[in-house]
Amino acid sequence: MEIKITKTTSPSTMPAEDKLGFGKVFTDHMFIMDYEEGKGWYDARIVPFARISLHPASTVLHYGAEIFEGLKAYRRADGGVQLFRPMENIKRMNNSAERMSLPLLNEEDALEILTTFVKLEERFVPKSFGTSLYLRPFMFGNDEALGVHAVKNATFMLIASPSGSYYKEGINPVKIMIENEDVRTVRGGTGYAKCGGNYAASTRAGERAAKKGYSQVLWLDGVERKYIEEVGAMNVMFKIDGEIVTPMLTGSILPGITRKSCIEVLKKLGYAVSERLLSVDELVNAMKTGKLEEAWGCGTAAVVSPIGALAYGDEEYQINDGKIGEVTQKLYDILTGIQWGKLPDEFNWVYKI
Ligand SMILES: *Cc1c(COP(=O)(O)O)cnc(C)c1O
Repeated sequence: MEIKITKTTSPSTMPAEDKLGFGKVFTDHMFIMDYEEGKGWYDARIVPFARISLHPASTVLHYGAEIFEGLKAYRRADGGVQLFRPMENIKRMNNSAERMSLPLLNEEDALEILTTFVKLEERFVPKSFGTSLYLRPFMFGNDEALGVHAVKNATFMLIASPSGSYYKEGINPVKIMIENEDVRTVRGGTGYAKCGGNYAASTRAGERAAKKGYSQVLWLDGVERKYIEEVGAMNVMFKIDGEIVTPMLTGSILPGITRKSCIEVLKKLGYAVSERLLSVDELVNAMKTGKLEEAWGCGTAAVVSPIGALAYGDEEYQINDGKIGEVTQKLYDILTGIQWGKLPDEFNWVYKI
């Protein structure tokens, strides 16, 4: 595909690596292309990073037609830059687009957009272990009319943000509250799609948990409030009596690439991994009888995030004495090792730029 590049005339300086946060500073450029029904995607361009202008009736502002992805460009020890399973993100974005009646991307074009953009912004990929250039592709419906229907016009963009290590102060297990009131999504809804609306609807529960001293909530299914689904905006895994258990993908759970990678690593290491329904009763019972050995969230941002305590109603249960467990640590070491190019890529997951 042809991507027209207009470079900035006022390049910024890369922020100091030890001062990097998450998602607050952006690189010098952004990618944009537009879509019109019948015409397809057109006008693929990289331009200086700037505010964008939208018609006040733009679909995204009224009906929430928006999807996104999140992946990272990693600096290898040998100086090169690589992505981790980028095709998985592209395929998932198309699944999200299909759910939200947004146009699909050509997979090869999408990969070319990612690589062209990362090459141009290479100096913003930080060098220290744990840091990365966070890539945020997103798409929104952009008709300039208020009628409710599948959109005829859409915009796809890619922005990037140099980001610090998620674990600047070391990996500290977090306290999580089982959420009994709000639900994130329901089966048949948009749970498997990475859409902005899911995040908007789940913020309230997270805020309430924070007020009670918990970092995030553990979501239950929206139909029976009985089965475990996810933790905050991450997938969740448990080690119960020797077995690794993660909720099966029923449609209301986001199919995480980290989740998928954890399962593949664990199976290779010889663990029994089971994707199945896990009820909150089974989980609470495992905590009461000391059979819950480890619990962790998994997602691109944190890789893995150990859970040190879980609250259900008025009870709070400690997990592994509030310390990171052996399996959680192993997953962290192996996944980050592959992502930052310190371990051999035995699964063929790495895509070098
Ligand atoms: C993005 C996301 C995840 C994690 O997916 P990864 O591909 O591992 O980053 C999990 N749950 C929700 C709700 C998400 O949006």
